[in-house]
Amino acid sequence: MNELPISPQIQVLPGREALVGALSVRRTLPTRGRRTVGSWCFVDHMGPAQLDPEISVDVAPHPHIGLQTVTWLFSGEFLHKDSLGSEQLISPGQLNLMGAGNGVVHAEEDPNYHRGTLHGMQLWLAQPESTRKSPSTFQHLPSVPKFEIGNASGQVIVGRFADQQSPALLDTPTVGVELNLRYGPTILPLEKSFEYALVVAEGAVLVEGKVVAPGALAYLGSTRDEIALEVTEPTRVVLLGGEPLQEKLLMWWNFVARTQEEISAAYQDWVSNDERFGAVNSQFERIPVTPPIWFK
Ligand code: MN
Repeated sequence: MNELPISPQIQVLPGREALVGALSVRRTLPTRGRRTVGSWCFVDHMGPAQLDPEISVDVAPHPHIGLQTVTWLFSGEFLHKDSLGSEQLISPGQLNLMGAGNGVVHAEEDPNYHRGTLHGMQLWLAQPESTRKSPSTFQHLPSVPKFEIGNASGQVIVGRFADQQSPALLDTPTVGVELNLRYGPTILPLEKSFEYALVVAEGAVLVEGKVVAPGALAYLGSTRDEIALEVTEPTRVVLLGGEPLQEKLLMWWNFVARTQEEISAAYQDWVSNDERFGAVNSQFERIPVTPPIWFK
C-alpha cells in the first residue's frame, strides 16, 4: 500500500502590536510557538498609518548584527541611511536589503514631511555562519520581477518564485513574494524542501478552511508542492519561505547571534561607541538600550 503524504496542518499564530518609534506595527515573527520560517526570523507589518506632522515615524540610528534587513513598502517612502554611507530612498515595488554581518548602524527617516500613508513590511533574515561575521553590505533594487498566477499578480521580493528570480543577494535559500489576490482561487507552486508562512497585509485569505487576516502568521509547514488560496475581496499577502534553519538563534534587541557572549560583546561595543558599528549621518540621536538581563 502506498503511503499518502501527510499534509501539514495550517497553524494560525497571533502576532502582537508593538511600537517602532511612533509607528504602530504588528509583529508576527517571532511569535509564541514559532521563532523562524526558513531563515526569516522577524516580521513587522507597519501601518497602514496616516502620517501626521505631529508624530515622527523616523527610526533613529540603531545597530544590527547577524541578519539581513528586507524593507518592502506597499505605500509611502522611507529614506534609508547606514554606516556604509548609503542614503537610499525606497518606494513601493523597490527593495532595500542590508546585510549587517559583524555590525552596521542604520536609520530609516520619513522623507515626505509627514504626509500621506505609510504601509509596508520590515523583515529580517538570519545570516548563516558564512556571512554573519562578515563586513556589512547594502543593496537597493529599483524594481523586482513581476508575475501573474491564477487570480493574482505578484512580485518576487527575494529568491525565486513562479519562474521569476529576484536579483537580491541572499545568504540562505529563501523566498519572499508579494501577492495581490483578486476574487476567486489561486494555486501557488511551492518547494517541498522549504517551509512557508503567509502574512496578510490587507483583506483576508482562506487557506485550507482557515481565515487569515492582518496581525497573524499562517504557518504552512513544509513538504507541500502547492497551496490553494481563496479570497472574497482584494487581498494583499506576503508569502515567506525557506529551508528550515538547522541551528538555534539567540535574538536580543536588534542582534541575531548564537550565544549570550556574542550578544554581550555587541551590546558592549554599541554602548562604548566602538568603531565596530561605525556612524550614520542622521539628525537623530542613537536609540538608547538597557543591557541584556544576563549582562554583568
Ligand atoms: Mn533596523
